[in-house]
Amino acid sequence: MPSTFAPSTADLVVIGGGVVGLALADAWLTRNPTDSVVVYDKEDHLAAHASGRNSGVLHAGFYYAPDSLKARLTRDGNRMLKDFCLERGVALRETGKVVVTTSEEQLPSLMTLFDRGQANGVELELIDESGLAELEPLARTVGNALWSPNTAVASPAGVVEALAERVRERGGRVVLGNAVTGAGPGWVMSVLEGRVAAGHVINAAGLYADTVAHWFGFGQDYRMLPFKGLYWYGNWKPGRLQRHVYPVPDPRNPFLGVHLTVTVDGRAKIGPTAIPALWREDYGGTGGMRGNELWDVVRSYPRFLTSKHHDVPGLLRAELPKYSRSYLVKQAAALVPSVRPQDFTERGKPGVRAQLLHVPSGKLEMDFVVEGDSRSTHMLNAVSPAWTSSLAVADYVVEGIVSA
Ligand SMILES: Cc1cc2nc3c(=O)[nH]c(=O)nc-3n(C[C@H](O)[C@H](O)[C@H](O)COP(=O)(O)OP(=O)(O)OC[C@H]3O[C@@H](n4cnc5c(N)ncnc54)[C@H](O)[C@@H]3O)c2cc1C
Repeated sequence: MPSTFAPSTADLVVIGGGVVGLALADAWLTRNPTDSVVVYDKEDHLAAHASGRNSGVLHAGFYYAPDSLKARLTRDGNRMLKDFCLERGVALRETGKVVVTTSEEQLPSLMTLFDRGQANGVELELIDESGLAELEPLARTVGNALWSPNTAVASPAGVVEALAERVRERGGRVVLGNAVTGAGPGWVMSVLEGRVAAGHVINAAGLYADTVAHWFGFGQDYRMLPFKGLYWYGNWKPGRLQRHVYPVPDPRNPFLGVHLTVTVDGRAKIGPTAIPALWREDYGGTGGMRGNELWDVVRSYPRFLTSKHHDVPGLLRAELPKYSRSYLVKQAAALVPSVRPQDFTERGKPGVRAQLLHVPSGKLEMDFVVEGDSRSTHMLNAVSPAWTSSLAVADYVVEGIVSA
């Protein structure tokens, strides 16, 4: 039943109250303080999906192609999110991060990352084994490593809650437990508030962003191909691992490889994996399973498996064994030898990446994808590091809408 207090019009309706949707509402209200802005989320609590199920790493921005949105918006977003955390009292830990190699063959790829960092205007240092020993005594490398002083960690849910609070302070409404069941240019239909006429609609629906975009006729070549991230916490004394420790990633895939991160309260954590998920909210068991989503994933695989853009059989061979905790821990031990399976037995909350597949080419989109027109905007590939980049992404997108 539509609420009697629900307004029937809004200047802006945002579908999805994750970090991206909230950042967009916040940026809109900064520019248009008198506008009526409402954010709808289907869940009854904040940070239920990727925004509350990620590593909380504030990436620095050196992985991404220099001409990409990710490169610019991550570098800027890192600084903006740190300022936001300091201003709003969200826990932040300045860990820095090292990228290490496990063989000499990886050194050219390490140098490519270093060059990308330079091209992207990101502070990054090439260090040797003794430099690494000073920064993170537990990590090992072969020859050289990279040191990223600006990488940090914050509380993922803390950021989302603080953003929702700021949206409300600025006069916006954040309505939880309110699934949007249909929408089109100029209107949105939701379970609690019925039909609302909208000046502009922003789709920030995460794992469902493709479905929502299709309602508007956007993103027709795209389908979501979800990948699951599993984590294991260590029983180490907080602070024993001081820096995030990452491997050199395979440049053909949009994932960073098994790594160790430090949580905001100093705990060591292994993961996340990038295991193919069977449906969108496939967090474990059969919860959230939907037959049509399973079918969508199954019918995407022939196109993906034969993709010339990725080594998909290699990706599957590398990822599927990571369901085994001891296998995953062994991978992490290649970066930090003191990691032992018996010390990493506490499961973390899994997350699912809202990774977009370009169906005609079988390519996983590497960059953020934004489509839209004067009536609607669609955040189609808000994958990592969109949590880091959220405030910069929101500025960029809202500026584009307002000045169009
Ligand atoms: C395992 C993992 C690790 C990651 N690690 C990092 C990291 O360390 N650093 C980093 O920067 N990024 C990281 N990311 C990426 C980051 O979490 C995401 O890019 C970011 O959270 C995306 O935010 P979002 O708001 O688009 O999505 P979400 O948080 O998924 O929000 C989308 C919201 O839309 C709502 N919704 C969907 N459909 C509807 C509907 N019909 N009606 C109403 N509401 C709807 C959902 O309930 C959800 O709350 C990670 C992601 C994963 C999965």
